[in-house]
Amino acid sequence: MGGLTRDEAAAGAAAEATGLYRPHFRYDLNSRHFAGLRSLTSWANIGSIAALRRIDVQGQVEDITPRQRVFHAMTSPGSLAALADAILILMGEGTLSRPQSGRFVISLDFELMWGVRDKRSIADYGRNILGVRQAVPALLALFAEHNIACTWATVGMLFFANKRDLLAGLPEQRPRYTNPRLSPYETLSEIGDNEDTDPYWYGLSMIERIMDCPRQEIGTHTFSHFYCLEAGGETEVFRSDMEAACAVAARRGLDLASIAFPRNQTTSAHLAVCRDFGLRAFRGNERIWFHRAGSNKDQTLVRRSFRFADSYIPLGGAYDRDPIVVEGLVDVTSSRFLRPTRGGGLSERLRLKRITSAMDTAARQRTVFHLWWHPHNFGIELDRNLAFLRAILNHFHLLEDSYGMRSMTMAETANEALDDIRTGGLTHQ
Ligand SMILES: [Zn+2]
Repeated sequence: MGGLTRDEAAAGAAAEATGLYRPHFRYDLNSRHFAGLRSLTSWANIGSIAALRRIDVQGQVEDITPRQRVFHAMTSPGSLAALADAILILMGEGTLSRPQSGRFVISLDFELMWGVRDKRSIADYGRNILGVRQAVPALLALFAEHNIACTWATVGMLFFANKRDLLAGLPEQRPRYTNPRLSPYETLSEIGDNEDTDPYWYGLSMIERIMDCPRQEIGTHTFSHFYCLEAGGETEVFRSDMEAACAVAARRGLDLASIAFPRNQTTSAHLAVCRDFGLRAFRGNERIWFHRAGSNKDQTLVRRSFRFADSYIPLGGAYDRDPIVVEGLVDVTSSRFLRPTRGGGLSERLRLKRITSAMDTAARQRTVFHLWWHPHNFGIELDRNLAFLRAILNHFHLLEDSYGMRSMTMAETANEALDDIRTGGLTHQ
């Protein structure tokens, strides 16, 4: 069993020097024997008491009494989260072992008009969509400046250079939603010929730009912004959609590994289809009733109101999580949708605090904090949205320095979790 590495000790000392963090103690379970149990943090500590030690920020290792160990296990902030993990394991969803540091994941649902066409029109939302052409390079520059990894979950239809190629690349089976308005195939007759003449529906130049940047992953947001929970979105039709998404990505040399589902709608049967196509990561929903995905008609005003309020005040928890495996894919669960900036002052400070305190929890608990939004959310008020994001990234650097938190793509997070299973973490279903 080793103590803190020199880097960890130095980072701890640096954090203390900033004055932002009081000296704290880390409890360390380093033994490989307990690789699986590490995910249960506090509760596992009770069961693996011999491996528990206290390490101060200077890296000094202290022996502690059994009573102190049990007290810590019962009272640490992770106890409830760990209990929830334990329940999930009992329910059959394997939780993976916990690496030595927290992870900060960003995913962006890149969709242009395909993602909003059933709710918005170019007349009322076109300005936000056009603004994506400034937002994407600005985000890439900010990520490069801060060395941030990001997964761009991209709608397959955006990959085409022109309408002829798009029509040739359509899936064989297309969804026949009970609500026909949901089908993007009805819109095809209205769109222009290419990205130059119709910038609302084509995005290849931006995809290429993302691919040129370090630490950026292109994932999928399905081929057609597919709705898995709407009547008509059955799995066999979804299989056809995913086949088209993988094919158009493969033409650019991309092997898709991660998916964010449109409107976060999915089922285990749809996940199994993704697994068949070799995907490894998906973004599940926060585990609380008002974040549960549902079809359009299930998204009541009450649910939406709670989601909105939860962005400012802690109605739910931090939503930091360990990755878990579901149907062979790693659920890199969402922690927070980054709402576009609105106004300023107190509400923005509350919104930022809600995010950064959850990041603190993830860093301390060595879990994942997963932030997501759409580039079109930055389509207007770009500078203010970027300033807000910059504050989040600066906070990440504090956690990087003091807790060793790492910025990772969804695929990297999933690969690490799957590697961990192979080398001794808990088995999964
Ligand atoms: Zn979407």
